[in-house]
Amino acid sequence: MIYEKTNNMEVKRINRNRIFRLIYKNEKLSMHEIASCLGMSLPTVGQNLKNLQSEGLITENGVFESTGGRKAKAISCIKDAKLAVGLDITNNHLSLVLVNLSGEIVKSTRVAKIFENSQDYIKEIGELVSGFIETSNIDKSKVLGVGIAVPGILSDDKQTVVYSHALGLADRNGPDFTKNISYPSVLSNDANAAGFAELWNTEAVKNAVYLSLSNTVGGSILLDNRLYPGDNQRSSEFGHMTLELNGRTCYCGKRGCLDAYCSASVLSNGTDEGLYDFFDLLKKGGKKQEKMWKEYLSYLAVAVNNLRMLFDCDVILGGYIGAYIEEYVDELRLLAAEGNTFEPDGSYLKVCRNKREAAAVGVALLHIERFLSQV
Ligand SMILES: [Zn+2]
Repeated sequence: MIYEKTNNMEVKRINRNRIFRLIYKNEKLSMHEIASCLGMSLPTVGQNLKNLQSEGLITENGVFESTGGRKAKAISCIKDAKLAVGLDITNNHLSLVLVNLSGEIVKSTRVAKIFENSQDYIKEIGELVSGFIETSNIDKSKVLGVGIAVPGILSDDKQTVVYSHALGLADRNGPDFTKNISYPSVLSNDANAAGFAELWNTEAVKNAVYLSLSNTVGGSILLDNRLYPGDNQRSSEFGHMTLELNGRTCYCGKRGCLDAYCSASVLSNGTDEGLYDFFDLLKKGGKKQEKMWKEYLSYLAVAVNNLRMLFDCDVILGGYIGAYIEEYVDELRLLAAEGNTFEPDGSYLKVCRNKREAAAVGVALLHIERFLSQV
């Protein structure tokens, strides 16, 4: 008897979730369309719609043109019904985004702040997040949680930063980043978060490698739309693949790492403005920039081809460079194809769709995704 009751509740929960997700994926639908699409009875759909509407998750959105008889009401999802905050921690700044159920950035801000392993820094993070939500003029009960992206390797339970060269953390000596945040919080590696954002809500792509070309080089591997963490949470440390034997010294201390050739700071002096200036001068025909860019692309093509050989899936270019590379991607495809044993073109090479604050958006989406799977 208890089993039957539980089972019945589970069926009701699944029905509700299917109805909500169908509306979420469509701009507008009628009650009849929902019932027919999901093979459910009109009373079941009607009761669920009533509940979802009273919870502020869906709304009536006009009517459909009549095909005879009464015009059917159009039903849409309210995309701002729930929101999530993403916080990206870097050595130099803190970025905050507020994203809605569609993954759109509703609000964002970036604050210059040098990382320090101190309680004051953690306190400031808490105040920054509270202030950001406070000034967003939203009902706080709509905030699902705060995601925190960090440039480091996390523990298996994703509660602690085990190691971060960028932040100078080792042996779990970092602070508790979530300590002063009064919302459900989750940590993620920054490149993993950015990679997750790339495949989120896409149905076509199943496998992809995300190459993050920021002031350090990292990335993520997505297999069947899931992040592959590796045995030690250290997968996708693409920045430290050896590109050149006895080559340039990398910040990790080893020689010839990809990072030493393809980080964004190779082109800039480590600042956003520097990168903007670099591409501005490149477009204006600056000889020095042309030479640097040619060399940069030649190394990047080798790395991209290596990733294609390893994973045989799309390679997505992201990070700071991802925001600028669109107009040069055909040139890079040709270079990558020259080194490829099997393929005559580099059409597998893609440019990221999240051109700004990808890590912050991605880590916020972890809360959105959880909500959508449980609603
Ligand atoms: Zn290295």
